Amino acid sequence: MPFYKTPLRELRFVYNELFDSKTIEQLPGFEEITPDLVDAMLEEAGKFCEERLLPINQSGDEEGCQFSEGRVSTPDKFIQAYKDFCEMGLCSLTAPIEYEGQGLPKTLGLMIDEIISSTNMSFSLYPGLTNGACNAIIAKASDELKQKYLPKMIDGSWTGAMSLTEPHCGTDLGLIRTKAISNDDGSYAITGTKIFITAGDHDLSENIIHLVLARTPDAPKGIKGISMFLVPKMVVGDNSEIGKPNNVSCGSIEHKMGIKASATCVMNFDEAEGYLVGELNKGMAAMFIMMNIERLAVGIQGLGIAEASYQGAVNYAVERLQGRSLTGPKQPDKPADSLLVHPDVRRMLLVQRAYTEGSRALIAWVARELDISRHHEDTKRRQDADDFVALMTPVVKAFISDIGSEVANLGVQIMGGHGYIREHGMEQYVRDARIAQIYEGTNGVQALDLVGRKLSAFDGRYLQQFFGPVQFFLETNANNAAISTLIAPLGDALQKLQSTTQYVRDRLKNMPDDSAAAATDYLKLFGLVSLGYLWVRMAEVASKQIDSSDELFYQAKIDTANFYFERLLPQCDALYKNIMAGSDTIMKFNDEAFQA
Ligand SMILES: Cc1cc2nc3c(=O)[nH]c(=O)nc-3n(C[C@H](O)[C@H](O)[C@H](O)COP(=O)(O)OP(=O)(O)OC[C@H]3O[C@@H](n4cnc5c(N)ncnc54)[C@H](O)[C@@H]3O)c2cc1C
Repeated sequence: MPFYKTPLRELRFVYNELFDSKTIEQLPGFEEITPDLVDAMLEEAGKFCEERLLPINQSGDEEGCQFSEGRVSTPDKFIQAYKDFCEMGLCSLTAPIEYEGQGLPKTLGLMIDEIISSTNMSFSLYPGLTNGACNAIIAKASDELKQKYLPKMIDGSWTGAMSLTEPHCGTDLGLIRTKAISNDDGSYAITGTKIFITAGDHDLSENIIHLVLARTPDAPKGIKGISMFLVPKMVVGDNSEIGKPNNVSCGSIEHKMGIKASATCVMNFDEAEGYLVGELNKGMAAMFIMMNIERLAVGIQGLGIAEASYQGAVNYAVERLQGRSLTGPKQPDKPADSLLVHPDVRRMLLVQRAYTEGSRALIAWVARELDISRHHEDTKRRQDADDFVALMTPVVKAFISDIGSEVANLGVQIMGGHGYIREHGMEQYVRDARIAQIYEGTNGVQALDLVGRKLSAFDGRYLQQFFGPVQFFLETNANNAAISTLIAPLGDALQKLQSTTQYVRDRLKNMPDDSAAAATDYLKLFGLVSLGYLWVRMAEVASKQIDSSDELFYQAKIDTANFYFERLLPQCDALYKNIMAGSDTIMKFNDEAFQA
């Protein structure tokens, strides 16, 4: 079984020290969320995930989901694990108290999501999609639908699914063909085929609630004619009791590279009974509520896998004896030194560590602003926080899912052939992490969202929520001796981000290919600067604690920050050049030559 221990010390550092835990405690409704409570919940969730989800991660991958006679079954022990997961209240952590949720902060919920993703990414998708669906229902559905569906979804008895993709349309949802015809009783008859639907069918819950994108016969063409419908697998009565099966069936499941214990289904809706959520033809806006939640969740999947891979790799590197240190034996009593003496292995481990801890800090920052955007008393503060979350969502989704894949690959490399074979579980991390770069809008599409929508929104208003705090930090710490070596390079990287921001915004209108060709590099630059800022802040916090009894921990923070600045942040220089290179070599390449 792969090695994994919940990184409690790390999570505590981020929750209490990097960000002041009081910020959460002072929000209305969160007065009782003390550091002790957070600690206890992280510990308890970690214990469950280590004891129940981790042991079925590899077996789930080997066994996969099965499809037989129209029914999907999850791997052995998933049903019991899911039942216990729900009974522990892990489904309802951040859901509103009004619908029988626990009303806890997202900051805490997303940290627990990291642990779930580290121990079993496939499993994480079942409650994860339910949570996203609940958010869309809360925001857009009628009171009747909310009362009928939310409590059962929030306690985990029913799960959620997101039914968008069709055989001929993935990214371009304007092409959706699924039809919605209104019935006399106000419901709709939904007909169409959806593919690649995660948790579209399975045996974990007694009902599955699909949020389906479809169009009515007279709807405008394209994206403006799409509506969102709630379509249950089993029809539900007035008192939330389960009735007859709806005309929703699973046609098959996909055989795929990773997350094999997550059912990826072809779903057929054959005049299935469905109910409009939100307004007619405003389905994309409604679905974006779910998609934005899922995009953060996908970034967290990248983080979860990165953490698990790092732990597996470092645990192995310490034990594995190969070769001798270039500066003389370090373990002369042994036949060879551990892998830890080799500069190249240390480099890989530090890349893993710097990216993983940096990503955790970034997600915690976004999660905290998410809580502020929903709970702060001040309207302006709520709006600012909302702007920040909107700006950073594509960065979290794409940058951190890319990191998940890169770090998982390094984990295999560090373990050599033992990483490549299945026994240690390291190759599973690579296969599982890969989908995070594709679903919920590919990472290329996230980059286009950042460049095409988020930068220009409200005349650049969102950007201020990132540039403002980073600039303020640089100014107030200009003479801070503890982090003096990091301030100038961060300022330089920020400058590059600001001038490329200007460039991609300027070209959007008249030379859109230049902006689009730059988008992926620009998003990476954004991610690297974000982590740079957070690493300086972590180093600054650590420098104040260096004489404490936990010196090893704090010194490691400072050393990892130095590594990040020396070895990873300089990628900004090359990205800057790529972005400013325009699109000629890309767009003028002869189409026919691609296949020559
Ligand atoms: C395991 C798995 C689970 C999934 N779960 C769900 C789910 O629960 N619900 C659901 O609805 N869907 C789900 N999907 C579908 C997933 O969201 C899509 O696969 C994804 O959005 C990409 O669509 P596509 O595969 O059709 O690729 P395409 O849209 O054909 O894109 C192919 C390539 O072209 C690029 N591209 C496409 N259009 C543009 C453009 N305008 N500009 C620049 N580049 C572009 C893309 O970035 C990509 O690299 C899942 C898929 C998988 C594999």
